[in-house]
Amino acid sequence: LSRLRRTEPSVRSFIHVADAAAEREAEELDRRIASGEKDAVGPLAGVLVGVKDNLCTANMPSTGGSRILDGYRPAYDATAVRRLREAGAIVVGKTNLDEFGMGSTTEGSAFQVTTNPWDDSRVPGGSSGGSASAVSARQCVVSLGSDTGGSVRQPASFCGVVGLKPTYGRVSRFGLMAYASSLDVVGCFGSSVFDTATILSVVAGHDKMDSTSSSQDVPDYASELVSLDLLESKPLNGFRVGIIKETLGEGVDTGVVSSIKDAASHLEQLGSVVEEVSLPSFSLGLPAYYILASSEASSNLSRYDGIRYGRQVSADDLNEIYGESRANGLGHEVKMRILMGTYALSAGYYDAYYKRAQQVRTLVKESFKGALERYDILISPAAPSAAYKIGEKINDPLAMYAGDIMTVNVNLAGLPALVVPCGFVEGGAVGLPVGLQMIGSPFSEGNLLRVGHIFE
Ligand code: GLN
Repeated sequence: LSRLRRTEPSVRSFIHVADAAAEREAEELDRRIASGEKDAVGPLAGVLVGVKDNLCTANMPSTGGSRILDGYRPAYDATAVRRLREAGAIVVGKTNLDEFGMGSTTEGSAFQVTTNPWDDSRVPGGSSGGSASAVSARQCVVSLGSDTGGSVRQPASFCGVVGLKPTYGRVSRFGLMAYASSLDVVGCFGSSVFDTATILSVVAGHDKMDSTSSSQDVPDYASELVSLDLLESKPLNGFRVGIIKETLGEGVDTGVVSSIKDAASHLEQLGSVVEEVSLPSFSLGLPAYYILASSEASSNLSRYDGIRYGRQVSADDLNEIYGESRANGLGHEVKMRILMGTYALSAGYYDAYYKRAQQVRTLVKESFKGALERYDILISPAAPSAAYKIGEKINDPLAMYAGDIMTVNVNLAGLPALVVPCGFVEGGAVGLPVGLQMIGSPFSEGNLLRVGHIFE
């Protein structure tokens, strides 16, 4: 807690810090342990977690990074948060994000700009930038984020931490503010694969409050990790790795490409076979993602009408309430997405945009499926560059969207992907971290975490 208090003025990971409440909870825990209630306190007893502010937390502000939800205190915890609390974890605060998850730098928050702990003139990535910077700056042990198109993996890469986007449906979305429901997943950050695996086991699993949550068994991921025994020099013998060709070409920083190639040779040294694999539909994923995500957002965000949640406005009629609350409550990027999505879904344009994007989604899914029949995992960078400067892309939305090229396809296909730090490029005072993305078949989180742990 003292580290959090010391670092927060420069990092600004949290929209809401509950440090005093966390301290009381920790004291209460100490008291219970001292009085012999040791078994009653759960496997994450006393572990400080940060929670992205688009996940509902009972009696704590939950803004989604938006003015329109200023003052909103949900009456319930999101399922993932409830499960962490039941395991004994202490929610130390709500982390900053791009408004409703729409953005790649966290600059789109209505409240504050979060900085990258490796270089405070740079962005932490986004949209879960606060959750990534909080773990990177060791303000909390682990954190929750959400990933619709890369929002866990890209900030993990920018901040040099581990980030996991689970299979669609692996973690309940109940209590997650919907952005694009067919793509949204709750994801985990940790400073090690072990920590990330530990919280995934706690938050994953079927939930009757989310009909898209899977009832597949949840393994104890952390206990399945095998440490790399240095005497066994080839722990990945027989393992097949496909390196996605389209992710190492034009537009990708040379330092990033060489970090990924070094990671590939490391995987080879550990015994695996690494081959280049081409996914021809890869570049089509980006425009398809932005059509689909905006379309779903335009429908999902209609709930923010100025009546049901948050900020209230006084107005004479319904249209005025809608107009007032949305004009003043929503930021520029969110308005733009709603307009784009409404346009793409409108009767005359549906076939040209939404329907075609859905067709591309099917192509992307099929090409991943084919490749994952031949390889155990696919690898790529998590982002085309390391963290860039605050303000650099804020006025160029297309350049910002282009930065999501490495991650959006995985959401279109609903696959799990793990990002682990794999190298550095020049920049800042001590270099800037680069993340390796490992993509697997549905529900192969255990496999990804095992490889990530050996790699680490
Ligand atoms: N940057 C992407 C977007 O703005 C992804 C965001 C996310 O995963 N929430 O849509």
